[in-house]
Amino acid sequence: MSKLKVATVWLDGCSGCHMSILDMDERLIALTEFIDIVYSPIVDTKEYPDEVDIALVEGAVASVDDEKKIRKIRAHSKLLVAMGDCAVAGNVPSMRNSIGPEAILERAYIENADCQQQIPCIVVPRLLRVVKPINEFVKVDVFLPGCPPSADTFHTALTALVTGEPLDVPALTRFGA
Ligand code: SF4
Repeated sequence: MSKLKVATVWLDGCSGCHMSILDMDERLIALTEFIDIVYSPIVDTKEYPDEVDIALVEGAVASVDDEKKIRKIRAHSKLLVAMGDCAVAGNVPSMRNSIGPEAILERAYIENADCQQQIPCIVVPRLLRVVKPINEFVKVDVFLPGCPPSADTFHTALTALVTGEPLDVPALTRFGA
């Protein structure tokens, strides 16, 4: 049986969801019997592959860069999973929505800078006015809530997805995600 190609993606999140994936420990190694991780912050691939079976996306969409990425990911992934409350509902990154990007940039790069106060116009992608969950931009197939979802939740969800078993998300959230 050929292995499923799995990608994990980090948009505007704290990386806590990825830490929770790593918390599966030896169960992650066991899963590699069924999956290849073809793109992720924990592997070296630089470009999103043309064909991915399962994409797990952490974080909300907060910048033009995030929006471009999530549209590309959707176009090249069979199944897209919103992992964690930032991807599912905006969560922490969306706390800036009532303030607006200009005030945030001013605070970070002018008021809090000890030297060379200036708002970057290159390298740092332009912020969207409002941070939104990923389903506001693309179709999401599976929502895994939690901040972060627990390692047990990830293990149960991934096992179900790779074996084709039904995925009971309300039951997953009872793991204390
Ligand atoms: Fe971090 Fe929680 Fe957002 Fe995951 S859902 S990226 S753990 S803040």
